[in-house]
Amino acid sequence: MDDVRRWRVPGRVNLIGEHLDHNGGATLPIAIDRSLLVKARLRTDGTVNVWSRGERASFAVDVAPGDLSDWSAYAAGVVWALRDAGVAVTGADLVLESTLPVGAGLSSSAALTCGVALALDDLAGASRSREELARIAQRAENDFVGAPTGLMDQYAVLFAEAGHAVHLDFGSDPPAAEPVPADWGDDGLVLAVIDTGVHHELAAGEYAERRRECAEIASELGLERLAAIGLDGLLSLTDETAKARARHVLTESTRVRGAVTALRRRDWTAFGAMLTSSHASLRDDFAVSCEELDVAVEAALASDALGARMTGGGFGGSAIALLPPKRVDHLRARVEAAFAARSWAAPDVFTVHSSPAAARLP
Ligand code: ADP
Ligand code: MG
Repeated sequence: MDDVRRWRVPGRVNLIGEHLDHNGGATLPIAIDRSLLVKARLRTDGTVNVWSRGERASFAVDVAPGDLSDWSAYAAGVVWALRDAGVAVTGADLVLESTLPVGAGLSSSAALTCGVALALDDLAGASRSREELARIAQRAENDFVGAPTGLMDQYAVLFAEAGHAVHLDFGSDPPAAEPVPADWGDDGLVLAVIDTGVHHELAAGEYAERRRECAEIASELGLERLAAIGLDGLLSLTDETAKARARHVLTESTRVRGAVTALRRRDWTAFGAMLTSSHASLRDDFAVSCEELDVAVEAALASDALGARMTGGGFGGSAIALLPPKRVDHLRARVEAAFAARSWAAPDVFTVHSSPAAARLP
C-alpha cells in the first residue's frame, strides 16, 4: 500500500556519561542495530490505533494526561504533546514491530516516542525540527507517562550517526551534538550487551529521587546545573550522601571527556578503563546499580573485557562490555553460570553495532 510510510528507529546504548543529561552534563551514546519499525497511515476521523506486540490500543486525538496508563500512553503522550505544540494530528493507524528488548535499558521508550513523533509530524506535513520532536517525545514521557527522564535517549535516537558515538552536551540550550568515530570494530573488538532481564520496582522512584537530590545539591551550591560543579564545590559539601552523588557527577564528567579523547585516539585500554570506573562510581557513589548488573560486569571483566559498566538509569536493565569477539561466548557462559548459581533467570547476551539515527524508509 503506497499510503503507508515506514520509519526505522534505533534503540541506544549509552557508552558513558550516566545520569548527566539531567545534570546539564555530557553523555556519549550510540544508536544500535536493534530497532523499532513504525508503519504509519493517515486517518482523518480523530482516532489513533496502535498495534504492537500482539495488542491493539485505540484512543482519540484529544487524549489528555491521566487518560491512559498502559503502554499506549507512550504513543498517546506523543499525540498530546504534538497537538499542544500546534501540530494538527487528525488520526492515524500505527503498526509497531520491534527487535529491541522492551524495558532493558536500551531505550525502547524513546524509540517508540520518537518514531511516533516523526511519523505523525510527517503525516501532518508539519516538518518540525528534530530538536523540537526530541522535546515533544520527552514531554510525552515526562508529562503524560509520568517517567521523569532526561533528554539523552531522544537525542541519541534522533541525532546518532552510523560508525559514531554522539557526544551530547546538555550544558547548552539547545544541547550540542557532535559525532565521534566509534570504530573499535576495526581493531578487533565488539560491544556486547548483557540484558539482565530484571527491572527492579524501585527504578522509577529512585531515578526521580536522584534527580531531586542532584537538583538540591546544585541549588545549595548556587549552580544552575550540577555538572558545573568543581573540586571546591565538592569539598564544601558536608553531607556524605550529597558528597557521593556530586562526586559521581564530577568524576563522570571527567570520564566522558577522557572517553571522547580515547575514542579519537583509538586507545581502547584507556576507553575500557573509563567504562569500568564509571560502573564503580554508579555503584558506590550514585548508588543506582544492583546485584545483577554488578555480577554481569564482573563476568565481563573475567572474560577479558577491556571495560564494562551498567548502562541506562540503573536498578536492572543492561550492562555493556568491550571485548574481543572470540570472548563473547565465554562471557555468555560465565554470566549464565553466575546467574544460575544465584537462581536468577538466564540473561541475554548479544553484540550491537553503532547505527544511523531514525530515518524514513523508501
Ligand atoms: P526502556 O526505554 O529502557 O526500554 P522504559 O521503562 O523506559 O525502558 O520503557 C519501557 C516501556 O515502554 C514498556 O513498558 C512499554 O510500556 C513501552 N514500550 C516500549 N517499546 C514498546 C513496544 N514496541 N510496544 C509497546 N510498548 C512499548
Ligand atoms: Mg526508556
